[in-house]
Amino acid sequence: MTSSSLPSQAPATPNSTLLRVGDIAKATGKTVRAIHLYEELGLLRPATRSSDGFRLYDHSAVDRVRWIDSLHELGFSLQEMREVLTNWWSADQGASAMTNLRDLFVRKLEETRDLIRRHQQLERELEEGLRYLATCENCAAPGPVHECVNCAQDHGVKSPPPLVAGIKTSPENARKSSRPAFVRVEDISTS
Ligand SMILES: [Zn+2]
Repeated sequence: MTSSSLPSQAPATPNSTLLRVGDIAKATGKTVRAIHLYEELGLLRPATRSSDGFRLYDHSAVDRVRWIDSLHELGFSLQEMREVLTNWWSADQGASAMTNLRDLFVRKLEETRDLIRRHQQLERELEEGLRYLATCENCAAPGPVHECVNCAQDHGVKSPPPLVAGIKTSPENARKSSRPAFVRVEDISTS
């Protein structure tokens, strides 16, 4: 992979204000190895080199690394980030570059909101599970764990919440058949 299609982030800056790779790592909380990897992938460019051969970066490199981090959290691979940068810098018109970027952000915003909803659902289920388990602390049901499956004590709810119910379902079966029975593909194919 070449990285020649991306311009360096190199405005004319006196060397004294340039950063070494360790400075960028410190400023962003990344490892030096990660910074080097970004550079190998063409996501980052040193502005210049010092007389003794060290790579020197402009301060914009810190912004770039934080940008990489944000996109990583949004689920972008390093290769996808490179494509975003390449598309941006190779666009003929600023307007079309902006449109592409806006479409991408709209898509990611929808995915992010979807993820939030799913995590909120998980949050509710965990709270429900914990509330149920708290009532189990006072449960008088003695004996082995399988007695919990058909627990006759009043736990204050009609049935255990899904996160607990899923564990309590058929412990005997779970123990005896660690492998699922053979099922023909034809039998499970959708109609
Ligand atoms: Zn119980």
